[in-house]
Amino acid sequence: MDESERKLDGSKIAREIKQEVAAGVADLGTLGITPRLDVVLVGDDPASRVYVGSKAKTCAELGMISRTHELPEETPQGELEALVDRLNTNAEVDGILIQTPLPASLDSAAILCRVDPFKDVDGFHPENVGLLQQGRPRMVPCTPAGIMEMFRRENIEIKGRRAVVVGRSDIVGKPMAILLLHAHATVTICHSRTRDLAGITSQAEILVAAVGQRSLIGPQHVAAGAVVVDVGMHRVTDRETVEHLYPDHEKKLATFAKRGAVLVGDVDFTRVAPKARRITPVPGGVGPLTIAMLMANTVKAAKMRRGVEG
Ligand code: NAP
Repeated sequence: MDESERKLDGSKIAREIKQEVAAGVADLGTLGITPRLDVVLVGDDPASRVYVGSKAKTCAELGMISRTHELPEETPQGELEALVDRLNTNAEVDGILIQTPLPASLDSAAILCRVDPFKDVDGFHPENVGLLQQGRPRMVPCTPAGIMEMFRRENIEIKGRRAVVVGRSDIVGKPMAILLLHAHATVTICHSRTRDLAGITSQAEILVAAVGQRSLIGPQHVAAGAVVVDVGMHRVTDRETVEHLYPDHEKKLATFAKRGAVLVGDVDFTRVAPKARRITPVPGGVGPLTIAMLMANTVKAAKMRRGVEG
């Protein structure tokens, strides 16, 4: 199998999902409904600003309405809570997304709990977390939901497989592990205190890396023939690192020369890909799936709240 066959093309799958979402939006249009996503951005984090911008752009592409509420870094908790309350009761709003991380001065957990669980398109509200845990998913966090959708569309069998998830965040690692468990994988979760990480990950038939450590997962962590999913996203801005990560990779070096940075993941793609049966690249893997699933969740929220079937 050559590299292009091995690659799990998240961008292509995301395009398919978005086409289906756009068709759903058009159907809702015939009922006089246009789904609306409201995004709350507190502070000036440049990466958050980019993510929020691409969410708004994708909403527009699919015929949905989006509103971005930008608040200064020093916004008091009470003011942010009042905004969430207004969005909760605004009948025109279908989905509410609080862009994280919030500034350290704010109580993130309290804010995420305040979002109406039926408008919680990120699936972070404890009610949605509990439903997922019980195998009765309602709003599922977008990144793990996108990965499951990719497995389904690429006919990657999960039942009975040994799956290892590296990372136990509420956003990715934990919901990913639960979804794999409900799909009948035998699941192990690793984290920063795990001993002999490579010993465990190299048993995996499905390996999901959501670690937040650039290129941590090398060939020694991966079994031959494994399916490897790389959730990590890191901007590399020094040429030496790019040359080390992508030796002889002219396209990457050209991207670096043009933009002064390249995006890389938690997996050392160059050295792991030859061992893997299938592998997601960065960029073009999990990232586009996440945003596509946010759009799908917003349409789902619009239908649920209005009692529209399907
Ligand atoms: P996070 O909240 O920082 O969690 C990282 C997890 O990795 C933690 O559970 C941590 O363990 C574990 N970990 C850290 N170092 C480790 C090590 N050396 N060995 C084993 N485990 C280790 O991160 P996150 O929000 O889950 O995100 C993970 C990565 O995915 C980041 O790069 C983020 O930017 C990216 N991301 C991408 C998307 C996308 O759409 N592509 C979406 C979300 C996140 P402890 O719990 O013990 O600290």
